[in-house]
Amino acid sequence: MHLLPLVLAAAAIQAPVISAERIREDVRVLASDAFEGRGPGETGEQKTVEYLSTSFAAAGLEPGGVDGLWTQPVPLVRLDRKPGAKLALTIGGRGTPLALGEQATLALRNVGRTEVMDAPLVFGGYGVVDPARGWDAYAGVDLHGKVVVVLANDPDFEAGRDLGFEGRRMVLAGRIGSKFEAAATAGALGVLVIHEDAAASYPFMQVANGDVLPSFALAPIKPSTLQLGGWLRRDVATDLLARTGLELEALKRRAREPAFRAFAMKDATLSAAGEIEATDVVSHNVIAKLPGASRPGEYVLYGAHWDANGRNGPDARGDGIRNGAIDNATGTAEVLEIARAFAKGPRPARTLVFAAWTAEEKGLLGAEYYVANPVYPLAKTAGVINLDPHVVLPAARDIELVGGGRTDLETRLADAAAKLGLRVTPEPNPEAGWYFRSDHFPFAKKGVPAIAFRAGRDLVEGGTAAGNVRVEAFNAHDYHQTTDQFDPRWTFAGTVQEASVAYEAGRALASDAGWPGWNPGIVYGAVRAASDAERAPPARE
Ligand SMILES: [Zn+2]
Repeated sequence: MHLLPLVLAAAAIQAPVISAERIREDVRVLASDAFEGRGPGETGEQKTVEYLSTSFAAAGLEPGGVDGLWTQPVPLVRLDRKPGAKLALTIGGRGTPLALGEQATLALRNVGRTEVMDAPLVFGGYGVVDPARGWDAYAGVDLHGKVVVVLANDPDFEAGRDLGFEGRRMVLAGRIGSKFEAAATAGALGVLVIHEDAAASYPFMQVANGDVLPSFALAPIKPSTLQLGGWLRRDVATDLLARTGLELEALKRRAREPAFRAFAMKDATLSAAGEIEATDVVSHNVIAKLPGASRPGEYVLYGAHWDANGRNGPDARGDGIRNGAIDNATGTAEVLEIARAFAKGPRPARTLVFAAWTAEEKGLLGAEYYVANPVYPLAKTAGVINLDPHVVLPAARDIELVGGGRTDLETRLADAAAKLGLRVTPEPNPEAGWYFRSDHFPFAKKGVPAIAFRAGRDLVEGGTAAGNVRVEAFNAHDYHQTTDQFDPRWTFAGTVQEASVAYEAGRALASDAGWPGWNPGIVYGAVRAASDAERAPPARE
């Protein structure tokens, strides 16, 4: 059929332009040293909030925060570990101090001083407690006063078959936050995760460099029986295991059995000491809106986190600013540019909300706060499109869907991509659990259909091989580091593709009366169903 090219040509003439130049300028400014790495509660936050509010206003949007302002205050507690913290293992009576930020990392969970003396070590397999799947590594095991050593990811990640955890793709129980929760619920005093590159989905250098970063929590902070958590470098872990008569690969095989139970590691204990200083911080989500033309009480929400990792002690290169040019000045710039496109074009039926979240890097805290305190009713939010791209790429032939197979919002994304001549590829590293790692996820947990995607790697010039080289280089050297800096050579062609697909998918959703839902068997569907009565069925026209 030959109509299609004509339709496309017409659409191309009418569609507002997503401008690579405007995205470039926003990324350049937001990622400049003047913005100090956009740390929540740091001076970089004020500049960022000011820049985003001013840009939304200039584009013709309305303030969409609370009390008629551009912001939603987010009360946080900043937790800084004072210098001098210590971590040591003792095996068979022989003590081994561990160098923090080199051999291990240490997150102390409670405010004030923590002292742990010779807590017995327990091997907890994958540390999965998931009654729905019939797994409980801690059933009948007394963990009080003990520290659990666990494997990263979930039981079938390397099994070569599906053991009920979606095969190679990571399920939520495989995230380290889930492992910490499971161990805390079982009464453990601490959790150490054995770091392996593939299972963790990032090199040890990344967690090691993060050891000095402050952590944050939503205020008020809840005291926890879990006093510490951290990562063990793989060779340190295999040495520890060897000295207790254990071997990593053999342990993995045991841990893949549903009947696996945590067991004591012979003559092995852990000691730790350190102090956490807590500071109250009020950070901000920045929110703008464009009221819908005919159904303003229904919403489509675009989101991207504005924060990066802020100003910290200088790294080995002498740089103390983690600029976060890609992660996530780029996604933030895309949301700004999509807002500009909507403000210029015809107004869709539903209200468009544009949110720049704070503290994503600290545990999706800005978005978590929003879903607990929604400015716009979640029941009437038709869908969420999250922009947290992974790399700035040249033009590609595809987009990568993160965590696909969950919601029929994905169909709208595929339609939008097809309109732009792009195909949708599944994410190449499903074991990384990206669906749980950015700001769409808090919405999913509350039942709101939410998606995330990225520009694909099948580059117009060089294909997938060239795309993989760029992604792998970024992951190995720049992700969350001071080197995630603006590069004037970037064309932003892939970024424009991302923003254009997002614009088109959201425009379609904001223009019709349908309510996307969750696929059968997806747990978030049951949460959504509780508010079904609040959503008007699409009217017949
Ligand atoms: Zn990010």
